[in-house]
Amino acid sequence: MLSVRDAADTIFNLVKPLDNQQDTEVIDLFAANGRVLATPVTSLLDFPHWDNSAMDGYAVRYEDVKNSSTEQPVSLEIVAEIPAGYQPPFPLQAGQAARIFTGAVIPNGADTVVMQEKTRREDHQVWILTTPQPGEFVRRKASYYQAGTQLLPTGIRLTAAEIAILAAFQSSPVRVYRRPRVAIFSTGDELVTVNQPLQPGQIVDSNQYALAALVQQSGAEPILLGIVKDHPEALAQTIQQAITNADIVISSGGVSVGDYDYIDKILTSLGATIPIHSVEMRPGKPLTVATFPSPQSPIYFGLPGNPAAVLVTFWRFVQPAIKKLAGLAEDWKAEFVNVRSHDELRSDGRRETYIWGRLVLIDGVYEFHKAGGSHSSGNLINLAQTNALAVLAVGQTLISPGEEVQVLQLM
Ligand code: AMP
Ligand code: MG
Repeated sequence: MLSVRDAADTIFNLVKPLDNQQDTEVIDLFAANGRVLATPVTSLLDFPHWDNSAMDGYAVRYEDVKNSSTEQPVSLEIVAEIPAGYQPPFPLQAGQAARIFTGAVIPNGADTVVMQEKTRREDHQVWILTTPQPGEFVRRKASYYQAGTQLLPTGIRLTAAEIAILAAFQSSPVRVYRRPRVAIFSTGDELVTVNQPLQPGQIVDSNQYALAALVQQSGAEPILLGIVKDHPEALAQTIQQAITNADIVISSGGVSVGDYDYIDKILTSLGATIPIHSVEMRPGKPLTVATFPSPQSPIYFGLPGNPAAVLVTFWRFVQPAIKKLAGLAEDWKAEFVNVRSHDELRSDGRRETYIWGRLVLIDGVYEFHKAGGSHSSGNLINLAQTNALAVLAVGQTLISPGEEVQVLQLM
């Protein structure tokens, strides 16, 4: 049985990110939210593209106004009006000012903007009622970004800010990694779909729904292969189909030590290598991770059947694996933070224990609140609204209210 840390290391070392040439597509910026940039972006444009005004006011020559003040204002002749979007008509000479608006191009000769609130205008004269700083309220060409340098690195997730940057530089369309394909199936003779009548002894396949949602949230595309009976041939057939189509395969159920838990045996018969059979964690001890000999082999995750174990093992192992595979350079790792626990947390100390609950803001400080109700791995109900898992290390049996606890923050 592997420790959680060794299992995580093993899994994340197995993950080969998608290829930054072959596994990419070029898409419109409006479709880019949440996608992973597959190439560094460089632009031939400076930003700002030209010197422009940060204020509504007057473009002036600093030399002319450096001794101006409220008491002894300097007066300049207004020779032009420059709205945003227009080229200044001519350069500014000594003693002259141009009426200017936010975003408008600074005329040659001018180097400073005086905000209109610090001026008084009379026809074609403007009085400067302040002592400006040199260069004040001028957004200098290339002061935020210089053409030819790297604008965005490869391997970042694109959200509003990054997409706005790409738009500002006309970097559209954009090259992103394709979404990883994740095949999902459930195993068990007792399972029915949400639409089938429930007979005695049966249970609805909720794991397929949980996994489809988790996969989508992780930025990947679920391929739903349905429910497979606890029959070796049916399982072998589905696994064969899954591994030819997907980057990652996730099954739930059938990986424990029961007589009808066939997954590991079938994986072996299909030539798989199985570096992980079980992990020292609760919930989630029976966890199978396998690979196949072909170079394009997906990683196979045989998750336990218990619904809580599915969610916890996905959050701890599968989600970072999907994100790494998706091309994320840095942000794929699980994020742990230390917070105060509001509740008493207990473990038998024998396995690393994951307790579900919520991070709640109390007077500006995050606290972990354990979910009420049963923490059996067969219970699903009190997982609603979970946004964090408290982690008790092996050997740690008690965290008292008010003590610090390590928490895995969920997306
Ligand atoms: P197993 O790991 O196959 O022994 O299953 C462990 C427990 O999880 C059993 O109580 C199953 O009925 C339940 N279970 C297995 N698969 C699913 C599923 N897809 N949806 C909901 N519960 C499941
Ligand atoms: Mg089963």
